Amino acid sequence: MSSVQGSNRYSADRSAMRIKVLSPDLVSKIAAGEVVERPASVVKELIENSLDAGATQISVEIRGGGVGVIRVTDNGSGIPGQEVELAFQRYATSKIEKDEDLEAISSLGFRGEALPSIVAVAQVEVFTQTKDEAAGTFVSFKDGAVLERASRGRPPGTTIAVRNLFRSVPARLKFLKSASTEDAHTQRLVSRYALAWPEVSFTLYIDGRPALRTTGDGGLREAVAQVHGHELASALLEVEAPGLSGLVGPPSVSRSGRDYIQFFLDRRPIRSPLLLRAVEEVYAGLLPPGRHPAAFLRLVVSPQEVDVNIHPQKAEVRFRDEGSLFRAVQEALRRAVGRGPLPEAMAESPFPQLFPSPPTNLPLLRVLGQLAQSYIIAEGPEGLYLVDQHAAHERVLFEKLKGRKARELEVQGLLEPLFLELSPRQEGVLDARGEDLGGFGFGIEPFGPRTFRITAIPALLKDKDIKAALLELLDALGEEKGPPWEERVALSLACHGAVKAGQSLNPEEMRGLLQEMERIPNPHTCPHGRPTLLHFSSSQLEKGFGRR
Ligand code: ADP
Ligand code: MG
Repeated sequence: MSSVQGSNRYSADRSAMRIKVLSPDLVSKIAAGEVVERPASVVKELIENSLDAGATQISVEIRGGGVGVIRVTDNGSGIPGQEVELAFQRYATSKIEKDEDLEAISSLGFRGEALPSIVAVAQVEVFTQTKDEAAGTFVSFKDGAVLERASRGRPPGTTIAVRNLFRSVPARLKFLKSASTEDAHTQRLVSRYALAWPEVSFTLYIDGRPALRTTGDGGLREAVAQVHGHELASALLEVEAPGLSGLVGPPSVSRSGRDYIQFFLDRRPIRSPLLLRAVEEVYAGLLPPGRHPAAFLRLVVSPQEVDVNIHPQKAEVRFRDEGSLFRAVQEALRRAVGRGPLPEAMAESPFPQLFPSPPTNLPLLRVLGQLAQSYIIAEGPEGLYLVDQHAAHERVLFEKLKGRKARELEVQGLLEPLFLELSPRQEGVLDARGEDLGGFGFGIEPFGPRTFRITAIPALLKDKDIKAALLELLDALGEEKGPPWEERVALSLACHGAVKAGQSLNPEEMRGLLQEMERIPNPHTCPHGRPTLLHFSSSQLEKGFGRR
């Protein structure tokens, strides 16, 4: 840790405030509660204190799952020697003074609860020095009382070591999971703060092993690269709208869990079921089933719009106007991933549309051949592509059917009509939707009891199993839940109209399909969310062949 004293931009004006005990009246207005549940919650409180103290370098070290030692060192403002013991008293804080301060909290902490809660369940050592002091202060606590106090020099900043967490409270110790699970909690927590504060350098050592390091000199993308790897970071798309910024994955990027969806309320990592739903809806149908997107999003709203004072650990927050926030987030993300605006009824967002969609389209591809009569092998500027011909064609047809006015569809009259027998339920659907299906090119006439004659079809079903397609379409329309009916028709027709696996294609047909893929907005998945193509980048190929 360097000896330069830090000052991150959020804390410079607060460092002058003295630590004082809050009045009982102000205490009663605060959502008090247990803040120390597990080792990761201690790490969280200590990191937040370091950030509030203006640190630009924070080093976290844990041993034995965090129950052995947790040590956090920062280069922040330091605690004045004569205030160290005070900082460990309940409701002692330098961050708020009066009721009005609660309305506009700009620090991460404000309740004066963390240090007293920690010292109640662990041995604690503090070693701190402000830039104005000639010498630093070392104080150790055992069973909540001062054990040792000494004067020692150190660079400005604070180190707090927490040992034998919960040893005096076996009941709590019992609730902890294995050391590796607790380590994983801490690692996720430090990662979240490293992403929330890309201008602060974080290091994490677990049992002496380096587990995370950010340099603290870049923006969010740089921090994502350092936390989650360059491959993910370089694929992410910018999201930018008033009050909202961040990075999200294109539909070609998906993850098996929700760990890569993170929200920050300004600089505070938060959980938000509302925002999670907003994000996942944007990717609905674009990702393979059971997969989740990557999204790192920062909201900046005025303090009046949000209440962070509802949860002791401030992990959940409440927004005043959830509806417009939900829409604004969806708008911005749909633009980012090239999904087009929301249907009109939902689009009355308070935020203007600012940015055109970035290219998530495919690059130009050159056909090399067909594999197993199912996959198109192609080459592009970024390597090798294997395209699933059925899934790809399905996506192309779906995009066409969805966007097009029904009557523009090419219709094919049948020289020999087909006869179709329907179940009562299918007949009911046909009664209700017959006219709409006519708009898609179907000519269907009653012929006898529950029997119908088909005289025309949408041309894309030519040479296909028309009966099966129509029966399946009626079943899809009859289902209680699902997308709007137009989309169901598009899905069903795309599925039945698309070339099948096992069908050989000539070069011209393959070129045609790839050209259409290059033009559509969501080429990476079929309408059911399965991938349409596998991409092997030039660097993957080089690595695979041991060329570098
Ligand atoms: P809060 O953060 O809510 O004020 P804490 O119990 O976490 O309450 O901390 C009490 C006080 O101790 C803080 O208000 C701050 O003045 C001081 N403090 C704690 N940690 C640090 C640190 N790393 N650097 C400087 N001051 C600190
Ligand atoms: Mg605190």
